Parts: sequence; C-alpha cells; structure tokens
Amino acid sequence: MSKRLVVALSGGVGGAKLALGLSLVLPADELLVVANTGDDFEHLGLSISPDIDTLTYALAGIDNPATGWGRRNETWSFMDSIGALGGEDWFRLGDRDLALHVERTRRLRLGQTLSEVTADICGRLGIGARVVPMSDDRVRTRVRGDAGWIDFQDYFVRQHCRPVVHELAFDGVTLARPHADITAALRSGDVRAVIVCPSNPFVSVEPILAIPGMRDAIKASGAPVVAVSPIIGGQAVKGPTAKMMRELGLEASAAGVAARYGDLLDGYIVDHADADGIGNVGARVTIARTLMTSLHDRETLAGVTLDAADALASQR
Ligand code: GDP
Repeated sequence: MSKRLVVALSGGVGGAKLALGLSLVLPADELLVVANTGDDFEHLGLSISPDIDTLTYALAGIDNPATGWGRRNETWSFMDSIGALGGEDWFRLGDRDLALHVERTRRLRLGQTLSEVTADICGRLGIGARVVPMSDDRVRTRVRGDAGWIDFQDYFVRQHCRPVVHELAFDGVTLARPHADITAALRSGDVRAVIVCPSNPFVSVEPILAIPGMRDAIKASGAPVVAVSPIIGGQAVKGPTAKMMRELGLEASAAGVAARYGDLLDGYIVDHADADGIGNVGARVTIARTLMTSLHDRETLAGVTLDAADALASQR
C-alpha cells in the first residue's frame, strides 16, 4: 500500500502558505505540520508563538492577507490604549489575536504543554491537519548583531531586521527533544514525503533541524525530502532571508538555500525566475511557479511538491 503521511516543516508567513495548499490537497489525517518555536517569546506577560499562530490562522482561513500575520478583520483598541498609557506597543497584538495569547498563557500556567494547547485550539478553529510544535521544550532564537546578542523578536520586529546578522544561536536547543508525535510519525514507515516549506532557512527551518535527533529522524524515515525555495529571482518575497544570507557570507540565491540544506534534500522546487542559475544542487530540481498569491497558487504548488516527492519515491 502506498505511504500516506506528509510531514511539512514550517515557519510562519511563507511556510503557512504552502501548509494551507497541502491541507487543501490532502485528507486531514495525512498532513502533519511541524511548527518552528524558536521565534516564541514572552511579552506583556503572555506566551506568544508567532509561527504556530500564523499557521493556525492560515489553516483556519482567518489569517490577515494584507500582513501575512495576525487575524483578519482585526481591531486595535488594546494596542492603541496600551500605547497611550506609555506601554510597550512595538509588537502589534490585535484584539482578536490577543485572546489566543491570553488563553494559551492561562493554559500553560495550568501545566498544559504547548502541543496540547495548540492541538486543542486548532480543533476549536476547525483545523483538521495536525500542527505540532517542533518541541515542547523551550528553544529561543538569538541574533548576534554589531551591538551583541539580542532576542529574535527584538531583531525582527522592534528593530525591523536592521541589525547586520553575524551569527545565530538557538538557546536551549541542545536539551530540547523533538516532539514525540513527530518522531513517531517519522518512524511509522508511512511517510510519503517530508516537505521543507518556503520559510526562512536560518530562523524558521534550522531551529527545527537543530533539535538533536530531528535531522537523523527525517533521514531515517526513508521518505523523499523536498524543499521549496523561499528565494524567487534572487530575492525574498518578504522578510530578511536574502539580507541574512548576504550578511552571513552566503550567496543570496535559490542555489544558496539548497547548499545550506545540503544532503538533507532529495528534491528542490525552484521558481522559473531562478531556473538559469540553479546548476547542480545535489537534489532533483523541479522548475515551477513558486509565488503563492492566490489560493489556487497554494494548491498548485502543493501538488507540484507532492508530485516531485512521489517521483523520487518511485525510483527508490
Ligand atoms: P516567518 O517565520 O514569518 O519569517 O515566515 P517564514 O520563515 O515561513 O517565511 C519567510 C520566507 O517565506 C521568506 O524567505 C519569503 O521569501 C518566503 N515566502 C513568502 N511568500 C512566499 C511565496 O509565495 N513563495 C515562496 N517561494 N516563498 C515565499
């Protein structure tokens, strides 16, 4: 019998677009999305998990298409009010979004795990696919700029990615364990494909891969690993991926991302705009339209990615 399960590694904005596409072309019980939690932080007394939330809102169809993060039809009374009081308003939390952070924080304080809270909230919002944090253990991405080490959200949101990035670290990662549902899935013998979504390699995918045992478990699953390039025409669609690559001394290109993933990849989906310069990246390259503007784009790219994985599997 053919293998059924698709495991997708995802950050927020780019990753959630493909995760939604996969959720539209696969039965709900065949998709497990592994969410990066390196971006998580504590702010205003709340536990905030930006990538889990972006995935949750996208999969529930209540995401904000204009920003790529947060909820649609949002109102901002809380932000306006806290700003007027001299409070911290650099990290934008809409009123509806705030409810999720307050509720997550309450449940974590009662002793529930992040994965339990995530599963329950996804269920309440009608999401069929499983969204699993990469780990229930605490991992925090840190960025070394000219002024020393800072927290990721300080770099990303407060300082608008302006600092030059010299180095990244994932605090806590050496002690973190991959979530048991992820390792169980990868060991099941039923994995059709591992999809690396078009997310920032450094701060969305690498925190997942840096968890001890994760990379080996992916390899040992025997499933084809197929990534979608987050770089189109030598540029990031959104966010600091290309800027970070240049600052870290890497080539800001689709080929540069593939080189970063190295022997993890069996297949690589690259945009038409990057077809000429792609060369040999050590993985089977598929050229496709990778910009996901519409829902149809998301579905189509999900189909292309699964076809690429199935073609690789059929040759094993
Ligand atoms: P973050 O965690 O919110 O930063 O989001 P991700 O890491 O998941 O996504 C950021 C990356 O997604 C950037 O490198 C973007 O270039 C990429 N991205 C965003 N939209 C698209 C798209 O439509 N197609 C592709 N191929 N990449 C995209």
